[in-house]
Amino acid sequence: MFFPRISPKKCKQCDECIHICPTKVFEKDEKETTVANPADCIGCESCIAVCPEDAITLEEI
Ligand code: SF4
Ligand code: SF4
Repeated sequence: MFFPRISPKKCKQCDECIHICPTKVFEKDEKETTVANPADCIGCESCIAVCPEDAITLEEI
Protein backbone atom coordinates (compact mmCIF):
# COMPACT_ATOMS: atom_id res chain seq x y z
CA MET A 1 0.00 0.00 0.00
CA PHE A 2 1.08 3.53 -0.68
CA PHE A 3 0.41 6.60 1.39
CA PRO A 4 0.80 10.00 -0.31
CA ARG A 5 1.37 13.16 1.69
CA ILE A 6 1.40 16.84 0.79
CA SER A 7 3.78 19.21 2.52
CA PRO A 8 1.61 22.21 3.46
CA LYS A 9 4.69 24.40 3.53
CA LYS A 10 5.63 23.58 -0.07
CA CYS A 11 2.20 23.28 -1.71
CA LYS A 12 1.14 26.30 -3.77
CA GLN A 13 -2.42 25.06 -4.45
CA CYS A 14 -1.94 24.68 -8.20
CA ASP A 15 -4.28 21.64 -8.26
CA GLU A 16 -2.19 19.75 -10.84
CA CYS A 17 -2.17 16.69 -8.58
CA ILE A 18 -5.96 16.73 -8.38
CA HIS A 19 -6.25 16.69 -12.17
CA ILE A 20 -3.65 13.99 -12.84
CA CYS A 21 -4.40 11.43 -10.13
CA PRO A 22 -6.24 8.51 -11.79
CA THR A 23 -7.95 7.43 -8.56
CA LYS A 24 -8.95 10.88 -7.22
CA VAL A 25 -6.85 10.75 -4.09
CA PHE A 26 -6.61 14.53 -3.81
CA GLU A 27 -9.41 17.01 -3.21
CA LYS A 28 -9.70 20.70 -2.53
CA ASP A 29 -11.36 21.79 0.69
CA GLU A 30 -12.24 25.38 1.60
CA LYS A 31 -8.63 26.45 1.77
CA GLU A 32 -6.18 23.82 0.59
CA THR A 33 -5.42 20.72 -1.45
CA THR A 34 -5.74 17.65 0.74
CA VAL A 35 -5.02 13.93 0.59
CA ALA A 36 -8.68 13.03 0.92
CA ASN A 37 -8.61 9.37 -0.15
CA PRO A 38 -5.14 7.96 0.58
CA ALA A 39 -6.37 4.34 0.55
CA ASP A 40 -7.17 4.70 -3.17
CA CYS A 41 -3.55 5.43 -4.11
CA ILE A 42 -2.05 2.88 -6.54
CA GLY A 43 1.49 4.28 -6.35
CA CYS A 44 1.70 5.45 -9.96
CA GLU A 45 3.79 8.50 -8.93
CA SER A 46 2.09 10.77 -11.49
CA CYS A 47 1.39 13.32 -8.78
CA ILE A 48 5.05 13.43 -7.80
CA ALA A 49 6.06 13.94 -11.43
CA VAL A 50 3.55 16.73 -12.00
CA CYS A 51 3.96 18.71 -8.78
CA PRO A 52 6.01 21.83 -9.55
CA GLU A 53 6.82 22.41 -5.88
CA ASP A 54 8.14 18.94 -5.04
CA ALA A 55 5.51 18.92 -2.30
CA ILE A 56 4.29 15.32 -2.53
CA THR A 57 5.93 12.31 -0.95
CA LEU A 58 4.84 8.71 -1.26
CA GLU A 59 5.41 6.30 1.57
CA GLU A 60 5.10 2.56 1.05
CA ILE A 61 3.31 1.03 4.02
S1 SF4 B 1 0.79 8.08 -6.79
FE1 SF4 B 1 -0.76 8.06 -8.43
S2 SF4 B 1 -2.58 7.16 -7.48
FE2 SF4 B 1 -1.22 7.79 -5.82
S3 SF4 B 1 -1.89 9.83 -5.26
FE3 SF4 B 1 -0.24 10.07 -6.78
S4 SF4 B 1 -1.26 10.22 -8.77
FE4 SF4 B 1 -2.74 9.39 -7.28
S1 SF4 C 1 0.63 19.61 -7.54
FE1 SF4 C 1 1.89 20.09 -5.73
S2 SF4 C 1 1.78 22.30 -5.47
FE2 SF4 C 1 0.13 21.70 -6.84
S3 SF4 C 1 -1.66 21.42 -5.49
FE3 SF4 C 1 -0.68 19.41 -5.73
S4 SF4 C 1 0.75 19.26 -3.98
FE4 SF4 C 1 0.19 21.42 -4.19
